[in-house]
Amino acid sequence: MKIICVGRNYAEHIEELNNSKPESPVLFLKPDTALVKGGETFYYPDFSNQIDYECELVIKISKIGKSIPVSCAKNYYEEVALGLDLTCRDLQAEEKSKSLPWTLSKAFDYSAPISDFFSLKDLGKDIQNLDFSLLKNGNVVQKANTSQMIFSVDEIISYISRFISLKVGDLIFTGTPAGVGSVKIGDKLVGVIEGKEILKCEIK
Ligand code: MG
Repeated sequence: MKIICVGRNYAEHIEELNNSKPESPVLFLKPDTALVKGGETFYYPDFSNQIDYECELVIKISKIGKSIPVSCAKNYYEEVALGLDLTCRDLQAEEKSKSLPWTLSKAFDYSAPISDFFSLKDLGKDIQNLDFSLLKNGNVVQKANTSQMIFSVDEIISYISRFISLKVGDLIFTGTPAGVGSVKIGDKLVGVIEGKEILKCEIK
């Protein structure tokens, strides 16, 4: 199982980090050791002084595929979740300044807490019209609709599968909207999608 993440997929988030709008999806990977199923607890590591939350819609791949056309991509997923792409922003700034890959700042242990998955069919809504938000200690810090993605879920799946085969159980983090910020020990994060609190993560 692999975790593929999309960076810079919401215009306002690109602006808040002073990045430029990409012409194709910006991709990076997290290993399975990044996953925290059920969200729950994140233990603040000793190698960073600035860990940022990034709340994202997560897609679970349900069928093996390679070179998937955009028009067929919807046949490759049934379930979605909310996840946090936790990022060591201080390490990432160092990596960016040296033109190094983001491996350590993005792929460290427990950097991907995720909620339980739920069926899109049961929800009865278009994947590109889902409201989601993140609360930190009870205050809304991120709020978006998946219609604001620069690259749609189907475009992302098609693009990835030109280069990397997708297998059953692979996860795709689809990018974060504006409002990213840091966490500290004691913070409680709650992810909400379509009015339902589905992700809870405490920083310890
Ligand atoms: Mg992200």
